[in-house]
Amino acid sequence: MHTSFSAEQLQDPTIARADAMLRRCVHCGFCTATCPTYVLLGDERDSPRGRIYLIKEMFETGKVGAPVTHHIDRCLSCLSCVTTCPSSVDYMHLVDLARSHIEVRGRRPASQRLVRRLLAGTLPSPARFRVALLFAWLARPFRGILSGLGFKTAAAALDVTPPGLPHLKLRRRKGSIRMDRAPIKRVALVLGCVQEVLRPSINRAAIRLLRRHGVEVMLAKDEGCCGALEHHLGREEAAQKAAKRNVDAWSGALREGKLDAILTTASGCGTMIKDYGHLLARDRGYAGRATEMSQRARDITEFIHEIGLVPPLAWTSLRVAYHSACSLQHGQQVETEPRALLSQAGFTVVEVPEGHICCGSAGTYNLLQPELARALRDRKLDHIASVKPDLVAAGNIGCIAQLQRGAAVPIVHTVELLDWATGGPCPPGLENLKSKVHPIESLMELAGAR
Ligand code: SF4
Ligand code: SF4
Repeated sequence: MHTSFSAEQLQDPTIARADAMLRRCVHCGFCTATCPTYVLLGDERDSPRGRIYLIKEMFETGKVGAPVTHHIDRCLSCLSCVTTCPSSVDYMHLVDLARSHIEVRGRRPASQRLVRRLLAGTLPSPARFRVALLFAWLARPFRGILSGLGFKTAAAALDVTPPGLPHLKLRRRKGSIRMDRAPIKRVALVLGCVQEVLRPSINRAAIRLLRRHGVEVMLAKDEGCCGALEHHLGREEAAQKAAKRNVDAWSGALREGKLDAILTTASGCGTMIKDYGHLLARDRGYAGRATEMSQRARDITEFIHEIGLVPPLAWTSLRVAYHSACSLQHGQQVETEPRALLSQAGFTVVEVPEGHICCGSAGTYNLLQPELARALRDRKLDHIASVKPDLVAAGNIGCIAQLQRGAAVPIVHTVELLDWATGGPCPPGLENLKSKVHPIESLMELAGAR
């Protein structure tokens, strides 16, 4: 793409970086076919190519108009376009630059600013998020009224929060979890903020699964939110602060001993942590350590796949539709490992048609763009129903929360299934499917009887 920045503009490091990324785009338009918002809306300005053009115009003119804010806000940051682009346009970092520029220089209505501030202040804090969930539980009967009065974000939040009363007790353990044998590896497990509140069973399953494989799990003392939620809102400084806090926390763990990997069970966090090196590249005090942490970051399925899954203790005929979270398939390019592990654990993995298209969760997207998010969710649920699964497995809490409302089958995390198949308890919500999972000895007895 041709750009026309002046020499003076190019002195600005942000413009210089944007210029290099913009120039890679050759206008081919391959990305439009795989962009969820273009697929839904058919508007070039809601396609990657259209957004790239709007970003170029914004940086060239120095003006942050309402159209660029509107169409960038509608981007899910699903990164499907990055997977598709034959010219390797770094759309992920380009749209990050645009979001942060809009946040600093743009003018949003006061109501939007308030909502964004509330989300940034609530979601990354498990304690505040728990209180918010309690309010959501109390407000659930008034969802229709809230929607009618125009409180769309509040109504959307009620849509994606679990129907029951939230767990009110914080259960964050710190330090290493003692092993009864010499560990083969030592890892830091990222507990996450939203996930630990919405479905704590995921981290419990991950810890059991890792220990069963002889892996020592350490929960870093001062670890906090990964910063992804604020990053998606364009709050760059806050995201960097969160990243630095975690780099310090894991550096402390490293000083205490060997750390083979930093594991995430929420792929949204994983994509963010794998990008810490880039996020803090211009910070002399952190750049080196941030890059080191990014290199150690792994999705838990990558790690278990690397060390090899222990043999399952159960056999089953359950059909599992694997929902590939965008942050895992496009953000981290992790595609085969979760499917392979589920198959090795004995499940029949079925593919969801149009699997490359986002479910509409995308961080805070389902709260800020509820209509588009709902349309994407319904489209995804129709595709899931078409393959008639018994349940759905996903590697990201955002997708699980987004899809569970309206889904005809339960949605669980991949590690919960791996834990169950290798000796862990039945994951919450799957009690009705227990009869389809049998201890491996019963299969041997059956074989012996024949
Ligand atoms: S990140 Fe997703 S929604 Fe945004 S332009 Fe790319 S494909 Fe479209
Ligand atoms: S596929 Fe890549 S090069 Fe082609 S229009 Fe999209 S971003 Fe530009």
